[in-house]
Amino acid sequence: MTSEPIIAPLTPVVPVLRSGFDEGVTRSLRWRTAQLTAMRRMLDENSAALEDALFTDLGKNPTEAALTELNVVIAEIQHTLKHLRGWLRPTRVPVPLALAPASASTMLEPLGVVLVIAPWNYPLQLLLQPAVGALAAGNAVLLKPSELAPATSAALAELVPQYLDDRAVAVVEGGVEVTTQLLAERFDHIFYTGSTAVGRIVMTAAAKHLTPVTLELGGKTPVYVDDTVDLAAAAKRIAWGKFLNAGQTCVAPDYLLATREVAARLVPHLVAAVAELYEGDPRSSSSYGRIVNDRQYARLKGLLDSGTVVTGGRTDDRTRYMAPTVLADVARDAPVMQQEIFGPILPVVTVSGLDDAIGFIRAGEKPLALYAFTESAVAQRRILTETSSGAVGFGAPMIHLTVPGLPFGGVGESGLGAYHGRRSIETFSHEKAVMRKGLTPDTLKLVYPPYTERKDGFVRGLLRRFS
Ligand code: NAD
Repeated sequence: MTSEPIIAPLTPVVPVLRSGFDEGVTRSLRWRTAQLTAMRRMLDENSAALEDALFTDLGKNPTEAALTELNVVIAEIQHTLKHLRGWLRPTRVPVPLALAPASASTMLEPLGVVLVIAPWNYPLQLLLQPAVGALAAGNAVLLKPSELAPATSAALAELVPQYLDDRAVAVVEGGVEVTTQLLAERFDHIFYTGSTAVGRIVMTAAAKHLTPVTLELGGKTPVYVDDTVDLAAAAKRIAWGKFLNAGQTCVAPDYLLATREVAARLVPHLVAAVAELYEGDPRSSSSYGRIVNDRQYARLKGLLDSGTVVTGGRTDDRTRYMAPTVLADVARDAPVMQQEIFGPILPVVTVSGLDDAIGFIRAGEKPLALYAFTESAVAQRRILTETSSGAVGFGAPMIHLTVPGLPFGGVGESGLGAYHGRRSIETFSHEKAVMRKGLTPDTLKLVYPPYTERKDGFVRGLLRRFS
C-alpha cells in the first residue's frame, strides 16, 4: 500500500539500479528478452489479481481491464520480442566519396537508468508499456506507479520483484513527496505520463541534470462530425470512446463540434448509444466504471451545469458514480470547455461549419488526439493540414494507439516525444554514430596543413565537386 512517504529506503534504489546497469546486467539481448518474457508470465499468471486491483481502483470491468490494460502490454511485449533483434541491428549509412575508403553506421545504445512515472487512469498499462520499451532497449528501470490507484500500485510492487531482475528493475510506491524526492536524483531518461501541470515540474527537475524526458500529457481532444457520415454509427463510436473507463482516458473524445443541424440529429443517437452500451442503466451495468477519487468527482460535478443535460447528469456521492452525460447548447466559454474534462461528460458545441471548427481547434492548445467523422476527402485533408495534434483518427477514436507501428505521443502542451513499438526503442536509446576508416591509404593527408597553394586549389575543387 502507499503509506507515504517511505523516505529512507528510496536513496539506495537508484544506486542499485545504476550498479546493475554499469555492470552490464541489462546489455545482452538474452537478458532483455528474458525480462519481457517474465513480464508476460507475470501478467498471464496474475491476471485475476491484477483485474481485481483495477476493479478496486476504478470499478473497471474485468473484460475492459483485459482489453485496455493487460492485453495492451502483452501485445507490446509480443511485438517487441518479434522485432527486437532486427531493430537493434546497426544501420549503415553512405559515406561521402571524398572520405572513401571508409564506412559509417549508427547503433542504438541503452541510456542507463530510466524513471517511469505513471498516472492512475490506466495504472497498469501506462506503467508497464513504457517499461517494455525501456527494458528492450537495455536499460535499468525504476517504476513509480500512481498512488491514486493504490490497489494496482500495491499489486505491481509485490509482483514485479518476483518476476523481473531486481538488479535492474525496481518499483517505488508513493505520492508527490516520494516523486519529488525521486526527481532530485539523476536519471538517464524520465518517462512521465500525467497532467501538463506536473509535466512542467518533471521537466524542470530533469533540466537540472540535463536528463532527457518523454512527456505523455493530456488536453482537450475534439471530435468533429459532419453530415456525410452515418450519424448513428458515429454516435456509437463516440459514446464508446468517451465513456470507456468513465471518461478517464487521455485520448477520449473531450468535446464534440458539429453544426446546429448535425448536432440536432446526432444527439438522439448519442442518447440511444449510451442506453445500448450500458444496458439502459449505467449505474447497475457492470460495464461502466466509477470516478477515481473524491477530488476528481467533486471537480466533475462542478462541470455538470455547463449546458443542457440530454442524457445522464445523475450522480451518487457514496460510490462516486457519474452517469454518462451529454450536454447540449454548451457555450464556447462554459466551464466544461475551460479544462480537460477527464470524466464522463460530453459537451456538444455548435459551429457554423468546417472553417469555424478548425478555427476553434486552432485557438486552443494542441490536443493529444483529434477525431473526425467525415467522408469528405477535402474535409479530411484540411483537418490533417490545418490543425496540429498528437494523432488524428478518422472514423474511430482511440484505436490508433493499438497500432504498434504508429508513434504515440503529443505535441505542444499535449506532450513531448513518443513511444510504442520501435519508437519506444528509439526513445530509450542513444543513436550513436560510428565511423570506421583504415589508416592506410592515408587519403586524409590531402587536407592536412600546411595549406599550400596547391592544397588550396585541391580542397576548393574537392568542395565544389562534392558539395
Ligand atoms: P498527475 O500528473 O496528477 O499524476 C501523475 C503522476 O505524477 C503520479 O505518479 C503522481 O504521483 C505524480 N505527481 C503528481 N503531482 C506531482 C508533483 N507535484 N510533483 C511530482 N510528481 C507528482 O496526473 P493524473 O491526474 O494521474 O493523470 C491525469 C492526466 O494525465 C490527464 O491530463 C491525462 O490526459 C493525462 N494522461 C495522459 C496520458 C498520455 O498517454 N498522454 C495517459 C493518461 C493520462
